[in-house]
Amino acid sequence: MILIDGKKEAAKLREDLKQEVLGLKKKFNKVPGLTVILIGDMAPSQIYVRNKEKSANEVGLKSEVIKYPEAIEEKTVLEKIEELNKDQTVSGILVQLPLPKHIDKQKVIETIDPSKDVDGLHPMNVGNLSSGYQGSIPCTPLGCYLLIKKVEPNLTGKKAVMIGRSNLNGKAMAQLLLQEDCTVTITHSKTKNLKAECLAADIIVAAVGIKELVKGDWVKKDAIVIDVGINKTDKGLVGDVAFEEVSRVAKAITPVPGGVGPMTIACLLKNTIECFKRSN
Ligand code: NAP
Repeated sequence: MILIDGKKEAAKLREDLKQEVLGLKKKFNKVPGLTVILIGDMAPSQIYVRNKEKSANEVGLKSEVIKYPEAIEEKTVLEKIEELNKDQTVSGILVQLPLPKHIDKQKVIETIDPSKDVDGLHPMNVGNLSSGYQGSIPCTPLGCYLLIKKVEPNLTGKKAVMIGRSNLNGKAMAQLLLQEDCTVTITHSKTKNLKAECLAADIIVAAVGIKELVKGDWVKKDAIVIDVGINKTDKGLVGDVAFEEVSRVAKAITPVPGGVGPMTIACLLKNTIECFKRSN
């Protein structure tokens, strides 16, 4: 069984990106810039944003975090995004989700210039991905995709099952695997026999948010299992996959923590650099 080490792969990717930033600095005499907008003081969001800033600095990006209190008006946030859209030193804009209830998430996403949308959530980028055109790809599915390709470079004809159909995860992941000529099934909370769907899969990507949903007897021998889920328990963070059971049958599996999470952040940096390259 291959334990897919997301921490190690993310460190390798960051090192490659660092070299790339050095090259871009030489060529353009400037570096890509990432601006993150953080609203409120939710602990997980604060931690994510701190990690994003640390990683951005590590690879040599110009990084900025704009913090607003929970009660900030939507109009102020939208105006700031408009300002960042015009700012030549900003290559990528990310608004940390979730947002307070009084702020319309879709409005925020659609205000970000698609060419600076490093989260890949703007409808233009969603359309680009499903049409096979160039654009930003959501960071978590991109990270999962890179991990799967490390284990299995040729995915042609593989049966891939997504568990979860969010824009952020399942739907984008399905598009990436479809482009690799996989046969893709997207499952969700109304799927009739999830176990049977999983048992037919060569690749399972679980992005649900239910602790250890995928059991050992749901997984075909030698399947690749990618666990996106993050669930808090008394024993710490666990994924959507029953790791011990599934690792006995799978060919390769990501742990939680230390699997998909670190790749998500590294892919955010990658997306920022791609945005910079496309606009220069
Ligand atoms: P989400 O928007 O809540 O979507 C969850 C999906 O799971 C929905 O499509 C839902 O179906 C489906 N679902 C719910 N119960 C199900 C069941 N019993 N069987 C099959 N499908 C079921 O969540 P998300 O934003 O995609 O995040 C999913 C998980 O990934 C969370 O634990 C989150 O914390 C984690 N996450 C991790 C990273 C990372 O970097 N590692 C990044 C983002 C998210 P319906 O559409 O029918 O409701």
